[in-house]
Amino acid sequence: MHRMAGGTYHCQQCLATRLPVISGAGIVNERYAHGNSARERAIILGDAANEPQPLQRDKLMRILITNDDGVYSPGIAALAEVATHFAEVRVVAPHVEMSSAAHAISASTPLSYTRTPMPFGEAYRVNGTPADCVSVGINRWDHVDVVLSGINLGSNLGNAMWHSGTLAGARQAALLGVRGISLSTPTMEVEPDFAALKPWVATVLEFLLPASELKLVNVNLPPRAPKGVLWTRQSVRHYDGTVVPTKDPFGRPRFWISVVPIEEVEEGTDRWAMDRGYVSMTPLRLDLTDDEQLAMAQSKHPLEKILFT
Ligand code: MN
Repeated sequence: MHRMAGGTYHCQQCLATRLPVISGAGIVNERYAHGNSARERAIILGDAANEPQPLQRDKLMRILITNDDGVYSPGIAALAEVATHFAEVRVVAPHVEMSSAAHAISASTPLSYTRTPMPFGEAYRVNGTPADCVSVGINRWDHVDVVLSGINLGSNLGNAMWHSGTLAGARQAALLGVRGISLSTPTMEVEPDFAALKPWVATVLEFLLPASELKLVNVNLPPRAPKGVLWTRQSVRHYDGTVVPTKDPFGRPRFWISVVPIEEVEEGTDRWAMDRGYVSMTPLRLDLTDDEQLAMAQSKHPLEKILFT
């Protein structure tokens, strides 16, 4: 496991170093480096003579942002605000909450794409799932470099990855050949303190955005100041599957289902890191094949024994 020191949010200094790293070229003039938008800052790229230059579209990173909590979630607002310090940003998110929608897509219904003014810039709401939002968002905006999904109101650890709409947003990007990063934080008795989280989100993005070989990463942030950052693997544990019966106001039977893990966390996993107060970063792949099982099946169960005659 690789450990990184915790970071602090010093956006104005980091801008002076981030943009050339991310865009791959240019000299940043700090006089312009504190602008309110990526477009404003973009003109400083390649500006050795301190004269604003025309926007170099092909060198400015574009970040599409989605989530599964809905376009009006405080989590997506916080993520978009942080992302504007790195790139040109557009939000395309579900019009209502789609938590636990996993990787569903709207295959039989048309999708809306409605401009939704937001304080952090260009935003659109879609009457679909997070995966729908990424499909439409990438289609309606050329040259998206990275899709960020979150910040989810609730962690997405271990088996939660099977249900998470947040992760599905990032995974849909990966399926379309665009890098995807999902970000989540636990909800406690009160909603997450996104203002306090922003510096850590910035630290994570500062590290992950230039790491172009990482195609899909699931990030979870602890609710309070993290001790640092850990590379982790997915915790695979059974969950309780409790089904609690209740009744609706009209006396009809209803049920609550539960997905609480029933086994101890394994060292080196996402749950293990978060339990210890670290940011967890899990690189994921699209190939679900179990290579060990495949090899075992091929040797132990030769297909010559299966007859279709
Ligand atoms: Mn959610």
